[in-house]
Amino acid sequence: MPLMIIDTHCHINEPPLGQNIAQVLHEAEASDVKIILAPGTDERSSQEVVSVASQYPGVISAAVGVHPQITSTKEDDLAFLESLLQQPGVVAIGEIGIDAEVEYPDQNIQIPRFITQLKLAYKHNLPVLIHCRRAFQKMQEILQSLGPGPGGILHSWAGSWDILKTLIPLGFYYGVSGVVTWPKARRRREALVTLPLDRMVLETDAPYIGTLHAHKGQVAPKDIVETCQAVAEIKGCSYQEIAELTTMNAKKLLRLA
Ligand SMILES: [Zn+2]
Repeated sequence: MPLMIIDTHCHINEPPLGQNIAQVLHEAEASDVKIILAPGTDERSSQEVVSVASQYPGVISAAVGVHPQITSTKEDDLAFLESLLQQPGVVAIGEIGIDAEVEYPDQNIQIPRFITQLKLAYKHNLPVLIHCRRAFQKMQEILQSLGPGPGGILHSWAGSWDILKTLIPLGFYYGVSGVVTWPKARRRREALVTLPLDRMVLETDAPYIGTLHAHKGQVAPKDIVETCQAVAEIKGCSYQEIAELTTMNAKKLLRLA
């Protein structure tokens, strides 16, 4: 069987990737990246990823949502999501979450916005893509209060196993990004040693999170091979095994054929 990797988090609509999607996909394909999940971060980008997914069916899937760092959208301006999430190619809601590293919007905006979008995901049985920084306990509390549901991906996971293990029964997977290739990310690599392979998916967060050799701003889905290689070394598995396992996990969660 030919190798297949899924990039579960790539902002393919955003510059510079969005300016030449055909080329980005061509290079991705040559690196075994056959499916890309593109999350929205606000109303405009959510519309963009839905439109891009319709142009590349089976290759690009979309997630729609409002990112915690977005300052312009209030909780009550989420109505656009309801119709957008029913479009073809939309397989998830995201990226959504809580980011306590930014001061604005404050938690009084971020948290209700997160909860409203989670409820929408439960209502439509769509998995969620979660961005969480320095708010792991709050996120855990919210997810536990909602109980088992469609689950989702904890994108570029940097939290503890203690928190992750309580979210797995709720249907959650964790995303491994290019951060694990950074020399200074020793702790993240050490943590990965004990995290379960049957809950792992790969991602680039392109163009935002670089790998060691592909720097921020230039990172593209093709660079996921570097992350896959690093994970294989950490887990003592082959590159093929990591590619296959993470693809199987992503397909199962996102219900991709
Ligand atoms: Zn992202």
